[in-house]
Amino acid sequence: MADRCLFCRIVRKEIPAQIVAETDDCVAFRDVNPQAPLHVLVIPREHVPTLNDATDPALVGRLAMVAADIAQREGVAESGYRTVINTNADAGQTVFHVHLHLLGGRRMGWPPG
Ligand code: AMP
Repeated sequence: MADRCLFCRIVRKEIPAQIVAETDDCVAFRDVNPQAPLHVLVIPREHVPTLNDATDPALVGRLAMVAADIAQREGVAESGYRTVINTNADAGQTVFHVHLHLLGGRRMGWPPG
């Protein structure tokens, strides 16, 4: 439900967040429980629960371009970074407003856990 959705509330500035970028379509803010020195979530302003619900083919592209811009600004574009969208239970999605994780600043393992 968009009115009670945690990330919609961050978009509406009803809940504080460390916002690092805003565009017409997206908001990016630091993850409250960072898993890497740089851990930012990039979300659409529009409430889309999971990637399965996306109808706009440009949605992920917009999220990815904002993430790439932040990676550049935060100095990890050349060293490397990871972008992840968790979808539903097996991937561990806990907030049902689609979000792209931008993780950087340390060496990542593969395969992911
Ligand atoms: P996921 O498990 O992919 O759904 O990711 C949800 C992410 O949201 C987790 O990494 C949480 O640490 C993060 N998170 C939850 N609440 C907040 C919040 N209020 N501000 C920033 N990040 C949050």
